[in-house]
Amino acid sequence: MQFDEIIVGGGFSGAVLAARLSEDARRTVLLIEAGPDYKDIETTPATLLNCRRVAHDHSWGCEAEIVPGRSVPYPRGKVIGGSSSVNACLALRGMPSDYDEWAALGGVDWTWAKVLPVFMRMEHDLGGSRDVHGIGGPTPIRRYADSELWPAQKAFLRVCELLEFVTIHDHNHPSRSGAGSGPWNITSDNVRMSTAIAYLLRARGRANLKVLPDTLVDRMRDRASWKRLTQVMAKRFVGSAQKKSTSAKLEWLGIAR
Ligand SMILES: Cc1cc2nc3c(=O)[nH]c(=O)nc-3n(C[C@H](O)[C@H](O)[C@H](O)COP(=O)(O)OP(=O)(O)OC[C@H]3O[C@@H](n4cnc5c(N)ncnc54)[C@H](O)[C@@H]3O)c2cc1C
Repeated sequence: MQFDEIIVGGGFSGAVLAARLSEDARRTVLLIEAGPDYKDIETTPATLLNCRRVAHDHSWGCEAEIVPGRSVPYPRGKVIGGSSSVNACLALRGMPSDYDEWAALGGVDWTWAKVLPVFMRMEHDLGGSRDVHGIGGPTPIRRYADSELWPAQKAFLRVCELLEFVTIHDHNHPSRSGAGSGPWNITSDNVRMSTAIAYLLRARGRANLKVLPDTLVDRMRDRASWKRLTQVMAKRFVGSAQKKSTSAKLEWLGIAR
C-alpha cells in the first residue's frame, strides 16, 4: 500500500490531521490507530459519548508513579479520537502571554495573534464574546447554565463571590480572569465532542482516506536512499484490540511516498 501521508495514531491530533489532509482529493491518507474505530455515533459506546465521566474502558491502562512507591491510574485513550474520546472535555485556551513566549523561543507561528484565528475557526461558540469567538466551526463549545450546576459547584462559585473574585462568563477571553462556569467541548445534550466526531465523521467516505483500526505500529523505517520514503510496520489485530486478541502479526503496512 502506498500513501502520500501516513498518520500514526488516530487520536486528538491524528483525527484532525487525517480529516484536514484528505480535504485535498489528490492526496492519499492512511490513518493508523491501535484501538477500535467507531464509524458513527450510533455504534459509539455510551461511555465515549457521556461527557460527564472519563471513559476508562478505552484506555491503555497506564500507571504513573506520582511519588516513589505510589502509583495511580494514568488514563490515555486507545480508540479512534484518542484521549479526546475519553477525556473531561474542558476546552480552555492558554494565556496569550504563553503563546507569545513560545513564539519568542522559536515557534514563530505560535504568537497569540496567529493562534487566535485558528481557535475561532475550529469552534462553534454561541455563548462567548463575539470578538474572540467563532461560529460555524466543527467543535461546539458551551458553558453549563446555572440550573445544570451541581450543588457543590454552586457553593464553590458562591464562596468565590464572597472572596471577591470577579464573576466571569468567558474564561477563553484573553483579558478576563475570575470565577464562573467553564467552556466545554460538548453538545447541548452532553455528548463528548471528540475529534473523531467533530472532524473525522465528515471525512469518512472520502475515497482518498483509509482508516486502519486495531493496528499497533511497531516501528517506522526511513529508507536512506529514498530520503522521503517511510515504511510503517505494524501488528494488525483480528477482532478487537480491546479484547487483547492474540491473532496479531507483524507486517509492513504502508509506504509514504
Ligand atoms: C482522562 C483525561 C482527561 C483529560 N481532560 C482534558 C480536558 O478536560 N481538556 C483538555 O484540553 N485536555 C484534556 N486531556 C488531555 C487531552 O485529551 C490530550 O492532551 C490530547 O488528547 C493529546 O492529543 P494527542 O493527539 O497528542 O494524543 P491522544 O489523543 O492520546 O492520541 C494518541 C493516539 O495514538 C494512538 N497510538 C499510540 N501509540 C500508537 C501506536 N504505536 N500505533 C498506533 N496507534 C497508536 C492511541 O491509541 C491514541 O488514539 C485529558 C486527557 C485524559 C487522558
